[in-house]
Amino acid sequence: MQFAPSRSNFPGGGRCGAARETWPVMSDALTGAAVKEIPPKAVDLSAWYTAACLKAELVSYSPVRGCVVLRPYGFGLWEKLQQHLDARFKATGHENAYFPLFIPESLLVREAEHVEGFAPEVAWVTQGGSEKLTERLAVRPTSEAIIGVMYAQWIESYRDLPILINQWANVVRWEKATRPFLRTMEFLWQEGHTAHATAVEAREETLKILELYRDFAENVAAVPVYAGRKSAGERFPGAVETYAIEALMPDGKALQSGTSHDLGQNFAKAYDIKFVDADRAIKHAYTTSWGVSWRMLGGLIMTHGDDRGLRIPPKMAPIEAVLIPIVRSNDDRAVDACRQLAERLTDAGFRVRADLRDAQPGWKYSEWDIRGVPVRIEIGPRDLDGETAVLARRDRTKGDADQRRTVALAQIPVVLRELLEDIQRSLFAQAKAFLEKHTVTTTKRDEFLELCRTRAGMVDIAWCERPECEASVKETTSATTRVLHHLDDSSAVCTACGEPAKTRAYFAQSY
Ligand SMILES: [Zn+2]
Repeated sequence: MQFAPSRSNFPGGGRCGAARETWPVMSDALTGAAVKEIPPKAVDLSAWYTAACLKAELVSYSPVRGCVVLRPYGFGLWEKLQQHLDARFKATGHENAYFPLFIPESLLVREAEHVEGFAPEVAWVTQGGSEKLTERLAVRPTSEAIIGVMYAQWIESYRDLPILINQWANVVRWEKATRPFLRTMEFLWQEGHTAHATAVEAREETLKILELYRDFAENVAAVPVYAGRKSAGERFPGAVETYAIEALMPDGKALQSGTSHDLGQNFAKAYDIKFVDADRAIKHAYTTSWGVSWRMLGGLIMTHGDDRGLRIPPKMAPIEAVLIPIVRSNDDRAVDACRQLAERLTDAGFRVRADLRDAQPGWKYSEWDIRGVPVRIEIGPRDLDGETAVLARRDRTKGDADQRRTVALAQIPVVLRELLEDIQRSLFAQAKAFLEKHTVTTTKRDEFLELCRTRAGMVDIAWCERPECEASVKETTSATTRVLHHLDDSSAVCTACGEPAKTRAYFAQSY
């Protein structure tokens, strides 16, 4: 499968940065119930990841090649992402709307660079019923074209600006490999599209969303990221400037987790988005687009999971705590106690589930461990005699001093609240320590190339910003720039080629 570098910057995350494909295509043996157990994460991340997604019942493979089914638990995870992002969009003045799934070919081709970037992976509808269409319809790979046409109709005067709209939608990009959340033909995302009267406002919007994404990734998904500007080669097709957040996965590959594009007047000119300004002059608007897709969930899963399965940060957890009764043959008081405690906790605003199924507690423990529920509450006859329960935290491993603690029933809401906050903090701290440990700096060319080749992590160098230089590094190591950041030393030279440096860049292989 060929990917032009410029196409690695679709809103919501690149489809591919590195040239090499290291993940196996799903075999039938690994689909669905055939997964017996989860292989060790450190040995084979891709096998671990696929098994964890399937065994946690986030997704199932479907009879449609390239498309997965989001099962209820997986959809619950997606809904948490939606809730947190949607609240942030609305708090910053954005509104939701919905646009058509199909885009007539004549509209899609108007922005030349845009269509060139997307053409290789657009799915086309050529027939409706038994009738051949006179014009092909693209199944949207992204919605700039259809939204641009509508904005042209809606905008007349500077008083109509800005327009700040977000769409929650599915999009389709023809893919050969299938990997839950990371690479699927149809995927879920949000795409924001805004129009402004000035270049300054459009740039402010682009950066505001970049910061919103960084805040969500770090403070909700607990995934630390580098946020910054993209190189010209990694820019969204048709954008003036692209910004992104980039996370580092345990295998040393970067995952682009959200992008925000300043489109300048390129799309406004292609789609004729004009307005009469206060000075009566007719001007083209300045537009932006930005997106996060469900690949963010893939990043969260890979970042936090362990050999027992997922570890979901509490703020993203569809279920924050699961209650499990321990029933003795002549004593099933724990069942009622779990039911009552679950009600109390629900009333107190927690997302909990009482697992009252007829099964061994140990079996239930490992099942909820796989699903990554942050806290398990165990109640047995002996606990009830003392009016206590045991709280076990999923982020710790067995044997850790603070993995389990006995808590008075009356104190559980308070303790649970603190525990969830602590787990959230702790998961982020672990991931942050990993990112810092695997961010390496060098000024030596050979060492730089070796670090890129061996996937040492985010390799931070002084960089010339020349596309030829980036292409040459990619050719020899599969690594590309992820984001650029500030250069303090104006006399520095590019570590990769020796030309004068203009910026600093994090290089890494990427998903
Ligand atoms: Zn260079």
